[in-house]
Amino acid sequence: MPVKTESKTDLYRKLPSVDEVLRDPQLVSLVSLEGRASVTDAARAVLAGVRDAIASGRIDAAGMDFAITGIKAAVERQLKNSLSYSLRAVINATGVILHTNLGRAPILSAALDHISATATRYSNLEFDLSAGERGKRDAHIDRLFRVLLNNSSLTGQGAEPPEISTIVVNNNAAAVLLALNTLAEGGEVIVSRGELVEIGGSFRIPDVMAKSNAFLREVGTTNRTKIGDYERAINDKTRLLLRVHRSNFEITGFTEQPRLEELVSLARKRNLPLMEDLGSGALVELDSFGLSGEPSVLDSLRAGVDVVTYSGDKLLGGPQAGILSGRADLIGRTRSSSLFRALRVDKLIYSALEATLMAYTKHDYDSIPTLRMMRMSKGEIASRAEAIAGKIAGSDLQAELIDGESVVGGGAAPSAVLPTCLLAIRSSRLSADELSTHLRANDPAIIARVDEGRVVLDLRTVFPEQDELIAESLNKIGD
Ligand SMILES: *Cc1c(COP(=O)(O)O)cnc(C)c1O
Repeated sequence: MPVKTESKTDLYRKLPSVDEVLRDPQLVSLVSLEGRASVTDAARAVLAGVRDAIASGRIDAAGMDFAITGIKAAVERQLKNSLSYSLRAVINATGVILHTNLGRAPILSAALDHISATATRYSNLEFDLSAGERGKRDAHIDRLFRVLLNNSSLTGQGAEPPEISTIVVNNNAAAVLLALNTLAEGGEVIVSRGELVEIGGSFRIPDVMAKSNAFLREVGTTNRTKIGDYERAINDKTRLLLRVHRSNFEITGFTEQPRLEELVSLARKRNLPLMEDLGSGALVELDSFGLSGEPSVLDSLRAGVDVVTYSGDKLLGGPQAGILSGRADLIGRTRSSSLFRALRVDKLIYSALEATLMAYTKHDYDSIPTLRMMRMSKGEIASRAEAIAGKIAGSDLQAELIDGESVVGGGAAPSAVLPTCLLAIRSSRLSADELSTHLRANDPAIIARVDEGRVVLDLRTVFPEQDELIAESLNKIGD
């Protein structure tokens, strides 16, 4: 039954003031702990909630008494909620190394030290210390990319290898937008119909092309595109040839795609730049990491691609960033675009990226978490899984070790998998979904996969120091 207006007035009268609420002895001690301002805000929010309930008739006299006795606890809850971070660390037990929902690549710890040293103080972000004048922020990373993308190994078409430079923007989607806009605004860009990809999160090549003010000229068919298709499409409006890495799908069967070298020589012959959106863009050959067939940035530049775009937080294993590496004259044009100014990244990213690149320079691949995870052997993963299984032996959970596959993810080919050993858990009381809900409710949350009525944990993506937390959480659930 709806509450009448006159009794609503009575209910409002019963409501204590913020000051009255704050006089509660328990809240007084909370004030001394968390500060008066935040406790006052929490009390206001709680009282506003009760007022709303009165206004909408959701509360009567009896409910009101109940609400008033609960105010103190509600203020405490409200405060705890508003003073705890929404963005939190989780344990990734999915075995997907570059998991977009879980923050893609975890950055290396040296990056944090570097951020702390340079970003909690002033830095020479845009200051040339030797000249004492304004400098460029990309100088800090361009230097290392020049070493890593070692010019001497680039043959180029002429005798002189081209000078390679690199700039950084917010993410690879921004890098593609910037490059298309700079190199092809108002003109046509030729792309194979087999490469008009959608990456997810609304990155679609045709849409980015439209936003860049370049015109998409599709050639070939979904499964087959020949070099002649590109050649016939070239006209005086053509500004760029574009190749896009098929990051998240494969076309098999009756297929054809020109080799990169063929595209390079066509581009040279017709005096057009060739750009490749590599997506994941590995900085080292990943064969020794158990992954074959992933194209590296160096492969593309060696083949003669003029501009390569790739992400900082995919196979590179660094912070979110979009990286453009290529011929210095073309990169120079993109860096003087006003779009570059709009898409530029903060000192935090330069710090994290510089620290990541430094690890590459030192060949210290094990300090880069994603590369370390890729290199982890199945045997090592199995012995950690076995140790956890041993620790939960007394609970009512049944653990079993099974063979499986870890997924690289993040735009590496869908077939890019690594053999692993999974820890499969069953409970006699709880369904697999309930088990996984319990794991997610752990602090820190543990994210696992559910498969065939079991919860499966892949320790490849779990940091070894987190194994104990998983065992403890499972023991609590299985108690
Ligand atoms: C991942 C990917 C993108 C988008 O990169 P973000 O860094 O996520 O913006 C673009 N193109 C390709 C081919 C990709 O794989």
